[in-house]
Amino acid sequence: MKVKEVLRIKGNTLFSVTPESKLSDCVIMMADKDMGSLVVMSGGKLVGMLTFREVLRILAKRQIEQRVGPTPPFTEITVGEVMNAQPSRASSNMEVDELRKLMLENHQRYMPVVDEDVLQGVISFHDVAKAILEEQEFENKMLKGYIPTGRWKSPIPDRCLPGGVMRVAVVGAGIAGLACAHELRLRGCRVEVFEKSRGPGGRMPTRWLGPVAGQGGFDHGAQYFSAEHPVFQRRVHEAAESGAVLPWEGTVVDLAYNQITPRPASSPRWVGVPGMSAFGSWLAKDLTIHRQTRVQKFFRKNGRWTLETVATSGAQASLPDWDFVVVAVPAEQAAELLVESATLSQAARVVQSVPNWTVMLDFEQPLVVPFDGAFVHDSPLGWIARDSSKPGRQDSERWVLQATTDWSQQHLEMASEDAGHQLADVFLGLLGIATSPTEIRAHRWRYSTPLNPLDVECLIDRDLKLAACGDWLRGARVEAAWLSGWALGHALDIASPVAV
Ligand SMILES: Cc1cc2nc3c(=O)[nH]c(=O)nc-3n(C[C@H](O)[C@H](O)[C@H](O)COP(=O)(O)OP(=O)(O)OC[C@H]3O[C@@H](n4cnc5c(N)ncnc54)[C@H](O)[C@@H]3O)c2cc1C
Repeated sequence: MKVKEVLRIKGNTLFSVTPESKLSDCVIMMADKDMGSLVVMSGGKLVGMLTFREVLRILAKRQIEQRVGPTPPFTEITVGEVMNAQPSRASSNMEVDELRKLMLENHQRYMPVVDEDVLQGVISFHDVAKAILEEQEFENKMLKGYIPTGRWKSPIPDRCLPGGVMRVAVVGAGIAGLACAHELRLRGCRVEVFEKSRGPGGRMPTRWLGPVAGQGGFDHGAQYFSAEHPVFQRRVHEAAESGAVLPWEGTVVDLAYNQITPRPASSPRWVGVPGMSAFGSWLAKDLTIHRQTRVQKFFRKNGRWTLETVATSGAQASLPDWDFVVVAVPAEQAAELLVESATLSQAARVVQSVPNWTVMLDFEQPLVVPFDGAFVHDSPLGWIARDSSKPGRQDSERWVLQATTDWSQQHLEMASEDAGHQLADVFLGLLGIATSPTEIRAHRWRYSTPLNPLDVECLIDRDLKLAACGDWLRGARVEAAWLSGWALGHALDIASPVAV
């Protein structure tokens, strides 16, 4: 495992101070954010680390001097006076074993990761331990799947269509459902996907507001995605070869306490082209998808499943004879659909999704802002991005704003127009912009991302022939959703069809 994978697992939040910052302010920030270290930056470069060790040392020194010695009072001390000015550094391509050794040898609990003078993040002992544990659990799960026969056990040994082909219904054409359907199709199943909305992609959509088709799109769900796992990387590279995704080269920063700190990517930030929805559409090619068809419920009849669907037009249908049903929808909706299996529906009920208010802004003129995306701290906004800086979208100046979970929760029932205007004002104030947007649209995500994913690949009720995949199982990211669907496709592997 490489250091960059630990950085990915731990997430991107990074707080920086300058050598001139007051130590007392830093202690408040560390306590407030529950952090053991701060990076000290000057001129965009790392110049030191401040950890609780330095803080304790100076406190102890003053105490030993009984507060009358040469050490000034705590409130007068600056970071530059006490920081570790020469911390050991790791690089993102370093192996984690090497990093552990370096941390132990240097007695350094927090290690800055720097590539060619650019800070990538900070890793603590806790982050290392968590990443290793996660990796071991993943390997264990994969290994268990092979025991005892050396290949995945088939959970579907019996009922098949004539010719031995399994008939599987996948509910939900988000990234997880599409990944699962693709794997099952490769394995000879006859798969049909049911999707309640107009197109595939789920929470990775594009809202087209422009006068011309394919123009004026906003990515109002997932903003970009990473591909760290080799299997997902392969699939993303296939999509890149066909032009459906490209890396976003925009400048991404942290915007905290009026300071801008670069946040370079340790791996490409992938986006769909010309909008995020392109990736879902690409994954959906070759699949049979029933669009605008909501699965209301399904039940067992003669040992097989019958689906009850309703189309957007209002037309209802009862579709019998499915060998297996895969539910690939967010946790709250999955809990309702999975009622036939107490185990699966209870698991879904454990997971809670958080809401998110997203705002789309269109401007007549380009805004003079020195970055294209920012993780905003200490503001009602958590993320802002110049959507038009992504590849294939340069037709006007468009920004997407995402409120923090706290703000979104507190204003969940606010009228959409009011939420849009309030957050647009915060954005304009934050960047000191006098120009008003020509268009403000807000979108309320009631179930944006799972707060407490179960940290398993997927769930299968082998007796009922019912399974679930999605981001509420493996993690709240596009990559995790895809891996969950992919893992389920493998776990249901029937390799060679069973003859009847
Ligand atoms: C605002 C926002 C920002 C995000 N930003 C990022 C980001 O920057 N990077 C990142 O990696 N991830 C991001 N995510 C998370 C990412 O989008 C999700 O983790 C991922 O897309 C989930 O995929 P999924 O297939 O599990 O579920 P979904 O995408 O929700 O797919 C489920 C599908 O099922 C359909 N469906 C539901 N019920 C039924 C039914 N009864 N019948 C038929 N169809 C049904 C839905 O319409 C949907 O298409 C973001 C999410 C949101 C909301």
